[in-house]
Amino acid sequence: MFESLTERLAQVFQRLRGKGLLTQADIEQGLREIREVLLSADVHHEVVRELLERVRARAAGEKLVESLSPAQHLLAIVRQEMTKVMGGEVHKLRLSGRPAVVALVGPAGGGKTTTAGKLAQHLRKRGRRPLLISADPERPAASEQLATLAQSIGIPFASADQDPLSEVPKILTQAKKDLVDVVVLDTPGTPPGVLPPAFLAELMATLKPSDVLLVLDALVGQEAIRMGEVFLSLGLSGMVLTKLDGDARGGAALSLPSRLNLPILFVGVGEQPDDLEPFDPNRMADRILGLGDLSGLVEKLQEAGVTARAEKVLREETFTLEDFLGQLEAMRHAGPLGQLFSRIPGLGRPEEEEIEREFKKMKAIIQSMTVEERRNPHIIGASRKRRIARGSGTTVQDVNRLLAEYEQAKKLLKGLKRGKLPGGKLPFPR
Ligand code: GDP
Ligand code: MG
Repeated sequence: MFESLTERLAQVFQRLRGKGLLTQADIEQGLREIREVLLSADVHHEVVRELLERVRARAAGEKLVESLSPAQHLLAIVRQEMTKVMGGEVHKLRLSGRPAVVALVGPAGGGKTTTAGKLAQHLRKRGRRPLLISADPERPAASEQLATLAQSIGIPFASADQDPLSEVPKILTQAKKDLVDVVVLDTPGTPPGVLPPAFLAELMATLKPSDVLLVLDALVGQEAIRMGEVFLSLGLSGMVLTKLDGDARGGAALSLPSRLNLPILFVGVGEQPDDLEPFDPNRMADRILGLGDLSGLVEKLQEAGVTARAEKVLREETFTLEDFLGQLEAMRHAGPLGQLFSRIPGLGRPEEEEIEREFKKMKAIIQSMTVEERRNPHIIGASRKRRIARGSGTTVQDVNRLLAEYEQAKKLLKGLKRGKLPGGKLPFPR
């Protein structure tokens, strides 16, 4: 996601960091470079202009924070302004009414049907009782795709394809009796830039859904603005941005919220029913700026049950190398390790095989230690390091690296315990 954008922005900030103190000219040069990068990432020119104007004004007016270098300070400003451009805070579904109705609208091929399934699954995971409804009178086979999807994820489905205006209200009445508390409504798409069919406006007026989400494909970049505009008359409450998994540029994510004046509630990150994530502008700005996705990491670790273990360890105020090994094991089972590691700033995205190799090496090193060494790593001096390296078929550098990583994990866990990101203030790369 956003690989090319992130890489190029990182280069800009790296150059700035290399300068130490920043002159006005350095900042201007930096802003020009950021502008170029954003424009070539297909961010709308007005959005770029407004963003950089705010950054420039703040960079000129703000007193330097002592603990930050000038480049870090500029990065912090860009990060905050980028977050604002993407909607500022997290926006959630309203979900009012019994059942609550969430309607998905948007151009054909944007991902409505796929998202309907994902959203129903997401809601069910949060304790809701969803029902999927297809309301597409124009394509006879439209409901089949959703019906199949619903069946595969085990969510009830109803078709209102014959005559949505009369059928959907009937289905809702029955759904209420069946204790369904949320309905996800899939609707027909139109070719890019073509107004939605008249029945859709009528259907929205009749149902008054608590949430009408515009589903747009991130891969089309800022063209998505034009594709979305024709749906504004339907009374939209937010957006879902799909196919972010394939989007290296980020133009849509950065342009849409301010251009359409709509928050992004979810992003699609793959074709599978689980590939939907709530959208968090802060986290997204961190991703774009290559600051790592630590909050995502925390969630992953929680899913893997790693933090429960970590909490226990920390309550007892000890975190030994044995615990560290246990953690690595748990993370290894938490899903693609590379994905997990790529969220830690500075670690990049190593290859799966490389990680496997690294893991084996770390394990061998820890296993070559005495029990005492594992529990009290601080006693490991130079001669012990040499012995451990020999015993594990590695080098003293490997042992040093493992010990450094262990220390870092310890810090990370302390941060988790406090419920904060590690590092205290802003998670800046060095
Ligand atoms: P609709 O016409 O708006 O209903 O779009 P569909 O739900 O049928 O999706 C169109 C295509 O986009 C399908 O091949 C989906 O599998 C694919 N798709 C939808 N969302 C995502 C996503 O988040 N990531 C990826 N990679 N593909 C997606
Ligand atoms: Mg569809």
